Amino acid sequence: MRVIMLGAPGAGKGTQAKKIADQYQIPHISTGDIFRANIKNGTELGKKAKSYMDQGLLVPDELTCDLVVDRISQPDAAKGYVLDGFPRTIPQAEALTNALLARGEKIDYAVNVEVPDENIVSRMSGRRACLACGATYHIVYNTPVKEGICDVCGKELVLRDDDKPETVKKRLDVYHAQTQPLIEYYQKAGVLAEVDGTQDINVVFEDITKILGA
Ligand code: ADP
Ligand code: AMP
Repeated sequence: MRVIMLGAPGAGKGTQAKKIADQYQIPHISTGDIFRANIKNGTELGKKAKSYMDQGLLVPDELTCDLVVDRISQPDAAKGYVLDGFPRTIPQAEALTNALLARGEKIDYAVNVEVPDENIVSRMSGRRACLACGATYHIVYNTPVKEGICDVCGKELVLRDDDKPETVKKRLDVYHAQTQPLIEYYQKAGVLAEVDGTQDINVVFEDITKILGA
């Protein structure tokens, strides 16, 4: 099963993508996590990506598309995957569609997690991330067992630089201008499903499993 998560930054794509990956035993592929790992490791890609990410801008398509096409060609992705944070532009969606078409494959579901802009800033300022393993928490809605410490790997949790309110506002503008058109793109492709992302995390997940099936 090949699934894409759509939605504004902070809508809950990563939270739900991890649950989907666990339930359906498919890899969770997050371009944001891949870029953050590259930044942490000081790679050339990381250096290039950081300058865009810090400003709330998208990393250019030419640095992003090949990376994802390579990743979904790995053996662990043969039975499917959940893509989180990709595609984020129409050219990225087209690159993905064409790469899949060349192998006789297609996306099965594009799940749009809907959350109004007014909820996003508070969600993002309360998000705490583990940069070691990619787990995310919220100081009110999804707390770790021990404050400030990742349940999964025991490392310290941080507020991401790009989750500060000024950058979040820029990211929302970028979302509306460049990523929102993907909703229509996947609707036309006949694979769009929408869920109300303002509900409790587990209720959102129940709605998603109804769409994806058992
Ligand atoms: P995205 O991957 O779309 O940027 P995340 O999954 O990281 O978003 O979620 C953003 C923040 O909101 C995190 O702190 C997360 O714990 C919290 N969150 C996710 N889903 C919900 C929800 N349904 N209700 C309340 N908070 C949520
Ligand atoms: P995320 O972890 O999905 O919130 O992504 C964090 C940041 O990484 C974004 O604000 C972008 O700067 C960058 N990024 C992640 N995925 C992509 C993508 N598909 N295209 C361009 N930039 C991306």
